[in-house]
Amino acid sequence: MTKQTTILYIEDDEASQNLIQRVLGHAGYKILVANRALEGIDLAKTCQPDLILTDINLPDMSGREITIRLRSDPALTTVPIIALTAQSHSFERDKTYVAGVDGYITKPVDVSMLATQIKEYLHGRRDEVDTTTLEYARRAYSQELVERLEANVRELEASNRELRRMDQIKDDFIQLTAHELRTPLTTVYGYSRLVQGMPAIQRLMAQDLEVEACLTGLMDSIERLQAVVNEIITVSRIASGRISLKPGPTDLDDVIKRSVEGYAQVLQQRDLKLVYDLVGCPTQLYADKALLELACSNILGNAIKYTPDGGSITLRAEMQPEQVQISIQDTGIGIDPNDQKYIFERFYTAGDTQLHSTSKTAFRGGGLGLGLAICRGIVEAHGGKISVKSEGRDEERLPGSTFIIVLPLSSNVSGQTLEFR
Ligand code: ADP
Repeated sequence: MTKQTTILYIEDDEASQNLIQRVLGHAGYKILVANRALEGIDLAKTCQPDLILTDINLPDMSGREITIRLRSDPALTTVPIIALTAQSHSFERDKTYVAGVDGYITKPVDVSMLATQIKEYLHGRRDEVDTTTLEYARRAYSQELVERLEANVRELEASNRELRRMDQIKDDFIQLTAHELRTPLTTVYGYSRLVQGMPAIQRLMAQDLEVEACLTGLMDSIERLQAVVNEIITVSRIASGRISLKPGPTDLDDVIKRSVEGYAQVLQQRDLKLVYDLVGCPTQLYADKALLELACSNILGNAIKYTPDGGSITLRAEMQPEQVQISIQDTGIGIDPNDQKYIFERFYTAGDTQLHSTSKTAFRGGGLGLGLAICRGIVEAHGGKISVKSEGRDEERLPGSTFIIVLPLSSNVSGQTLEFR
């Protein structure tokens, strides 16, 4: 059985699409329709049609530009491209030939002739063009292209400025909201602590376990809310360069041990094994101890969140020439390679957020997608690098993930307060 001859028709007008489909479909051709230039270019590349019919005035690019683009594809250089257009002026026609079309058919289409014309083009017919008239059209068309390019660049620049402005408004809004929330939250926390410490309440708690459970739940939720608000403030500061490093002599071993401290209970509860492999530590660094601890703690927190109960987490610190490499490896669900590119960006969360539990340390316990953005900000401010390795995400096979922080020993962190970049 011979393959049906395929014609790609690039046209945004529905009436023209219907007409051509009817006439050429009736003549036995298979018609593919693209409504826009870019869609047409993609279809031409993937479907390799036997002939391309294109309108000139399309919403995104003109039929002439489609022709230039397709002619640069080695697989499409010989495919007949025919303009089908209402533009009948000879100057418009010449500009279209300059772009590289093989034929030019004007609308309204003569339906009794169209199928024959197309058959001829398919069998090698090429319009004869008077090359002497083309030179003027070539210059005019080049000029037109450059003017359109300039207009597009200007439009893109304006949109880019507008996007940056909107992004700034969004960042300011997030930061302002977090600050506005922090003040009353501190008051709520303070009063709740006061209430909790009152002798009458202490007595009540001792008598009634439900009262104690309510107050503990209240305090836990307030602390959780405070942590979220603080995370937003930290990441906003990093993004806007408004956070300061306070570097000093820092014992790496100490940083790692302290970042683990807060998780001792959950590690036990969830039967997660912590393995230390600190070769040659303690290492003295000149760094912001508290921020480095926050970075390690965030990664460790993630390793706990994304590793099912019974798994293990290995903490390694390895001396290398001029630098130290800290790695945190888990036996968890792993991270898809497509997500690995984005997880260090603000507000990026991989996987299904519907599955996130509300706890910060439960398996798949969700967050706002800020932890790793904070880590990257901190590590890069120290002149270091953070990266991730994982074969992919698989909740059955559990390929695990390894986060690697590399910090220079003689970092450019000077004694002064530094700004994040
Ligand atoms: P979140 O607060 O949501 O955990 P992070 O910025 O810390 O935000 O992490 C971004 C995303 O990266 C997470 O939503 C999670 O999908 C993925 N991720 C981070 N660490 C791990 C890990 N150890 N194992 C699997 N996925 C991880």
